[in-house]
Amino acid sequence: MQTQTLERLESNVRTYSRSFPVVFTQAKNARLTDEDGREYIDFLAGAGTLNYGHNNPHLKQALLDYLESDGIVHGLDFWTAAKRDYLETLEALILKPRGLEYKVHLPGPTGTNAVEAAIRLARVATGRHTIVSFTNGFHGVTMGALAATGNRKFREATGGIPLQGSAFMPYDGYLGKDVDSLDYFEKLLGDNSSGLDLPAAVIVETVQGEGGINVAGLEWLKRLEGICRDNDMLLIVDDIQAGCGRTGKFFSFEHAGITPDIVTNSKSLSGFGLPFAHVLMRPELDKWKPGQYNGTFRGFNLAFATAAAAMRQYWRDDTFERDVQRKGRVVEDRFKKIAAWINERGTPASERGRGLMRGIDVGSGELADKITAKAFEKGLVIETSGQASEVVKCLCPLTIPDEDLLQGLDILEDSVKEVVA
Ligand code: PLP
Repeated sequence: MQTQTLERLESNVRTYSRSFPVVFTQAKNARLTDEDGREYIDFLAGAGTLNYGHNNPHLKQALLDYLESDGIVHGLDFWTAAKRDYLETLEALILKPRGLEYKVHLPGPTGTNAVEAAIRLARVATGRHTIVSFTNGFHGVTMGALAATGNRKFREATGGIPLQGSAFMPYDGYLGKDVDSLDYFEKLLGDNSSGLDLPAAVIVETVQGEGGINVAGLEWLKRLEGICRDNDMLLIVDDIQAGCGRTGKFFSFEHAGITPDIVTNSKSLSGFGLPFAHVLMRPELDKWKPGQYNGTFRGFNLAFATAAAAMRQYWRDDTFERDVQRKGRVVEDRFKKIAAWINERGTPASERGRGLMRGIDVGSGELADKITAKAFEKGLVIETSGQASEVVKCLCPLTIPDEDLLQGLDILEDSVKEVVA
């Protein structure tokens, strides 16, 4: 396998190719193939970008049909038939059935673009600047999103420019199982001398993906929504990783029955791995003046075509989400078993997650790395997350066939047994 050019020319900043140092050539659903023809089961799936699998045939056909018809590929933010179809499908299949009414902002195509736009909008709409985010939160690496991101490794990489405008509160569970961390937030809000300026908004992940598969309780999320309402702060749910079905519902916040003021989606939104993001906002928050927030790639027509096809294919009824929930239980059961096995050998380990966003906390990044490296040797692509990379996380495609899911779990279990024994 030829990796010399890649090693020589690509910046040191590269990451995933260090854990998986092979040259991939093809992929189908939950399987990747490398240049030597070796197959791998993919439990990473573009860090949650390939919820519908690699080269999903329904979405690929929609893309090919669109290209074949000479549909508009780039049009700044022109009105296009593809954009209209995307918005109509989003409204009909996702928003209306859930009783949601949102306007759609199409910012640049990555997750961090959506977060930047969301927090900027919150500031413009409220005239206040502070954004409350949570310990272990990850929202992207551009300056505004990074200011709301906890991880020191990313925060230190600004060349000394201060990150401003955020205040961090403890996420659910951060202060221990028996402490409701929102007591602290509420106390600060109610205390004129706490030093916390009244925030414009709170940004939260319902399950923290990069932060270590930390799951916010449904009651905690409901209480957070109430605190936002009571204090006139906007609630932003960053559903970039947990959205598009990952937790077993289209939007991860549906489990809690809350209605955010602003929602960000990206990653699996196009369905096909094409760069694409949107910000959903309550209509009355749409305080933007025309062109006040712009960019060359504002909505990607190829992504409109695949995203609309994904919604039509998977979100017409609840069949798909029930299947995701079923597979989530399969992973949960196996992860509990693996965690118990590790515990029995004297290393504290635990399982957590929601839907098909699940992890095993093995207590140290060193052990988690050994497990994922062994798994890769055996043909499973799986990554870690958490402040010390101590959580082995499963983000397999939601469309993964049961055989591949079980085989991937077997590989993981065998790897743990070899490494921990
Ligand atoms: N928000 C969340 C919750 C994420 O998980 C990520 C990426 O992992 C981002 C924002 C940033 O997205 P991107 O890497 O596409 O900029």
